[in-house]
Amino acid sequence: MSRIEAPRDEVTGNLLDRLLDGLPAEAVLTDPDVTAAYAHDMASFCPAGTPAAVVLPRTVEQVQHVLRTATELRVPVVPQGARTGLSGAANASDGCLVLSLTKMDRILEISPVDRIAVVEPGVVNAVLSRAVAEHGLSYPPDPSSWRCAPSAATSAPPPVVCAA
Ligand SMILES: Cc1cc2nc3c(=O)[nH]c(=O)nc-3n(C[C@H](O)[C@H](O)[C@H](O)COP(=O)(O)OP(=O)(O)OC[C@H]3O[C@@H](n4cnc5c(N)ncnc54)[C@H](O)[C@@H]3O)c2cc1C
Repeated sequence: MSRIEAPRDEVTGNLLDRLLDGLPAEAVLTDPDVTAAYAHDMASFCPAGTPAAVVLPRTVEQVQHVLRTATELRVPVVPQGARTGLSGAANASDGCLVLSLTKMDRILEISPVDRIAVVEPGVVNAVLSRAVAEHGLSYPPDPSSWRCAPSAATSAPPPVVCAA
C-alpha cells in the first residue's frame, strides 16, 4: 500500500537524516496522524503547534545525539514525559522536535539504606511506588495521577522515599 508523505522542507529533511544517524527508525516519528497525538498535554484548551518530528530515545547517548543535532540545526526541542501536565507546558511549537522520554522507563537503583532511588525520566510513579514497597519503603505521589505520570516532571516538590 502506498503512503502519502508530507513534503519535507530542507531543514526538516536534514533534521530527519541527521537524527537517523544516531537513532533507530522506529524511534523517529513523522507521520502527522501519529505526531499529532504528541502535540499537547492534558490541557486541551492551550494552543499547540505542529512538531516536525517526535523522537523516542531509549538511552542517554540517544538523548545526547538528539540534543546535539537539534542545537546544531537550531531546531527547538520540547521535552515530554507522559503529557499528563495540566498547563500546556509540554505542548509542541510549530517545527519543533518533541523529545518524548516515555521509553526511558528503567529503575536503575534503589538504595534502601540511603533511601534513594535512581530512575530514568519515564518511570511512572505507580511503578516506582511498587518497587520501593518491596524494600519496605514508600514513595508517596499524588494518588490521582500516579498511574500515568512519571516521577521526573512532577511539579510538586520531589517526594523522598520514606520508611513505610
Ligand atoms: C489527574 C491528575 C492529577 C494531578 N495532580 C497533580 C498533583 O497533585 N501535583 C502536581 O504537582 N501535579 C499534578 N498533576 C499534573 C502534573 O503536572 C503531571 O501529572 C506530571 O507532573 C507531569 O508529568 P509528565 O511526565 O506527564 O510531564 P509532561 O506533561 O509531559 O511535561 C510537564 C513539563 O515538564 C517538562 N518535562 C517533562 N519531562 C521532562 C524531562 N525529562 N526533562 C525536562 N523537562 C521535562 C515538559 O517540557 C513540560 O514543561 C496532575 C495531573 C493529572 C492528570
